[in-house]
Amino acid sequence: MGGCNLSCSWCDSAFTWDTSRFDLAREVGYWKIEEIAETARSANTPLIVISGGEPLQQQTSPAWPQFLELLGGYEIGLETNGTFPPTELTLNRVSWVTVSPKLSHSGDPAWTRINRDALIAWGRCAQQFDIDFSFAVRDLSDIESALQIAKLHELPIDRIWIVPEATTAALSISRLAEVSEAAVQAGFNVSARLSALTNIQN
Ligand code: SF4
Repeated sequence: MGGCNLSCSWCDSAFTWDTSRFDLAREVGYWKIEEIAETARSANTPLIVISGGEPLQQQTSPAWPQFLELLGGYEIGLETNGTFPPTELTLNRVSWVTVSPKLSHSGDPAWTRINRDALIAWGRCAQQFDIDFSFAVRDLSDIESALQIAKLHELPIDRIWIVPEATTAALSISRLAEVSEAAVQAGFNVSARLSALTNIQN
């Protein structure tokens, strides 16, 4: 989904929001929800992931419940930056959510990237729904920052994944090597972010 309330310096989906670099009319455009649902259907897949941009900016739109209704019968995954709390409808309709709060290296000021109430809400919902958290990290200091955010917002440590922030496979692997031990010691999970590795430069 187009549009994001953040503007992370390393965003790999900047074509969804960055008008200074991309022609959003061409990259995103306006689609009727019926068209999106039809496109999803024609992909012949049992799983649909709603991502962005920040898809939960759309959550208060009257079209959001209709959209989720149109995707009935599919398993739906959702990716969000965690700055918007989930509604009951969203929680009940999606099968799983990945909440990815941003750290300072994103370039976004703290007051925009961390919404205390929203993060606490996501942490509480994780007791009942299939919700995981992920932090993109560059170095060991980011592990400490992720731990602080997790404790402050009562996020379940064992549902948090640490992934390397990188735009090349080599950098991703070296950052992963640097932070893995500290991440595991802190109680986090660690992922090589394999989906990203298929999209970034080798
Ligand atoms: S929150 Fe996600 S989509 Fe938005 S700018 Fe940051 S990385 Fe990009």
